[in-house]
Amino acid sequence: MQTTLDSPLASAATEANAPKKVEQTEVGNYFVSNYPPFSFWKPDQVSLVEEVLQRPAPTNIPLGVYFHIPFCRKRCHFCYFKVYTDKNAQEVKAYIDAGMREMASFASQPYLKGRKAHFVYFGGGTPSYLSVPQLKDLTNRMKDLVSWEGAAEVAFEAEPGTLNEVKLTGIREIGVTRLSLGVENFDDHILETNGRAHRSGEIDKAYRFARTLGFEHINIDLIAGMMNETAANWKDTVAKAVAMQPDAVTIYQMEVPFNTTMYQQMKAEGKVTAPVADWQTKRDWVSYAFDEFQKVGYTVTSAYTVVKDPQRIKFVYRDSLWEGADLLSSGVASFGHLGGVHYQNQADVGPYMQAIDAGQRPIYRAYQTTAEDRFVREFILKLKLGRSEFDYYIKKFGEDPRKHFGPQLDYLAKEGFATLDANGITLTRDGLLQVDRLLHDFFLPQHRQYARYT
Ligand code: SF4
Repeated sequence: MQTTLDSPLASAATEANAPKKVEQTEVGNYFVSNYPPFSFWKPDQVSLVEEVLQRPAPTNIPLGVYFHIPFCRKRCHFCYFKVYTDKNAQEVKAYIDAGMREMASFASQPYLKGRKAHFVYFGGGTPSYLSVPQLKDLTNRMKDLVSWEGAAEVAFEAEPGTLNEVKLTGIREIGVTRLSLGVENFDDHILETNGRAHRSGEIDKAYRFARTLGFEHINIDLIAGMMNETAANWKDTVAKAVAMQPDAVTIYQMEVPFNTTMYQQMKAEGKVTAPVADWQTKRDWVSYAFDEFQKVGYTVTSAYTVVKDPQRIKFVYRDSLWEGADLLSSGVASFGHLGGVHYQNQADVGPYMQAIDAGQRPIYRAYQTTAEDRFVREFILKLKLGRSEFDYYIKKFGEDPRKHFGPQLDYLAKEGFATLDANGITLTRDGLLQVDRLLHDFFLPQHRQYARYT
């Protein structure tokens, strides 16, 4: 069991009398990316996606389109995604063909036919692994299936070492508005020992050229607490990130899920503690980064983000999904959400492509959300923004968070993780920096048992 994800409600009484424990980083996921947890999505609910697809197209639900590109140059030691580092151009082409056949089979159904994308997202893996001709072929075909005209955001994840002037120009030409650069750290030794494929010189070159191309939003990702990270190096990393003046910065705290090579190494050595900083140190490092960015005018807009100009810079994909938008998601292992039903595709490229070749949907598991699930989902995900207004939930779901989550809200206030006022809840910095750990107690009782192990 992962110490850091133990229930704070359950453990509060004993904690009060016990000496403060160091929260070591042990194996497991703490990050809450969706709700209910994926372990509750089941193969026997897959047919519900088909039922949704036969409904008439809604006029009041925004639609997003996601395409998953599972290829990377190298596997990072902390990566828990299914990625392929050995595919040749022909195999990449076959994958894109399969993905487009999959998307076409969705886009022609009544629920989706004729709808335009409000946002588009290319995730992975490494979308920037694709060549410019591959990207143009992919996106031309996607646009024929679901129009992007007028989309509020087209987001694209990029690994700095895959970028050159031709690639960046191509990415801009296909219509990307938000470029997300996986920087993670600026120290070559740390990048190398964590298995990253890129080096610091590539970050600088890619960023400088990307800036000349007029992307509306360039975000850089950092990770606090990579293997071999030190306080001195983290300060240096933050200083370099501040100097770049990106539109936004996303900072994750390193976790070590089970299916990472880092965990395999720990297991082989019989270790339970990962060779990375403890949780309090990681929180302190993120807090330091937030302070440094605030000094130069950035605003902390969530547990993970600082933004230079919050009026202009939006996270359309994130916010739309958290508010219940539909997501037509294609590609191996991708997650989608249509008409209240969550679904996830086959996680391995073999079964994924076989299903498409056989004329079937490559969906592995699904989950029909209830109205209560949707309320809980939105409340917990949006708590990551640091502030929630109770009236919003009363109007949208007919549910008052104060009644639904009385003990949880009181606990946050009592422990100094949040302040409550007549209209809503505001997380303190301390609460914000460990929000994912705290969110598990807001899960419905039937979803708590496995929540820590998804
Ligand atoms: S670049 Fe991202 S997806 Fe690829 S191996 Fe590294 S962490 Fe995983």
